[in-house]
Amino acid sequence: MARYTGPVCRLCRREGTKLFLKGTKCLSDRCPLEKRNFAPGQHGQSRKAKVVGYGLQLREKQKAKRIYFTLETQFRAYYEKANRATGVTGDLLIQQLERRLDNVAFRLGFAISRRQARQIVRHGHVEVNGRKVNIPSFQVSVGDVVAIRENARKLVVVESARDYAASNPVPSWLQPDFANLSGKVVSLPRRDEVNLPVNEQLIVELYSK
Ligand code: SF4
Repeated sequence: MARYTGPVCRLCRREGTKLFLKGTKCLSDRCPLEKRNFAPGQHGQSRKAKVVGYGLQLREKQKAKRIYFTLETQFRAYYEKANRATGVTGDLLIQQLERRLDNVAFRLGFAISRRQARQIVRHGHVEVNGRKVNIPSFQVSVGDVVAIRENARKLVVVESARDYAASNPVPSWLQPDFANLSGKVVSLPRRDEVNLPVNEQLIVELYSK
């Protein structure tokens, strides 16, 4: 399946909740969910059936996938890896999603959304421990230093993201250095440090059937 390139606000409307995919617009009254909080499409307003069981599990999985912009194959691979490891599967699943380089770049305030962060990583503007890494799914480890590369520091998107970052606190597992546009991974993210409107237990139940 190809990557979704359509209007992302539809995804929020489909899930019935803000997924914060568009940065500053999400915090303003221009957010379409403020006025049209119903599913997109011709029958969006009339389709009001209560979602239970499998439907609920599926929606939680779709929500997480859409927030982190991952495809089904990759998302499933995260689950399989979490399931094989020792620990709480749901927590380990979220941990892998959070450790993605594009997410770390977003959390450190290099971009106003994960989608924009993904783009600056793909374009080679981010380095890990002094070396360019252009793979958005790259998993950071404790001790890694993630930074914007020297020649990209004046990028408009990076500059404007600084203001947005000021209103979004950086999670405690990352230690930002705003002056140098960098940040260090001081620990692996725990579930209680991740602000995510997803019930990961339902995702585990869906995949473990
Ligand atoms: Fe979702 Fe943001 Fe669009 Fe609102 S503005 S619908 S939160 S992506």
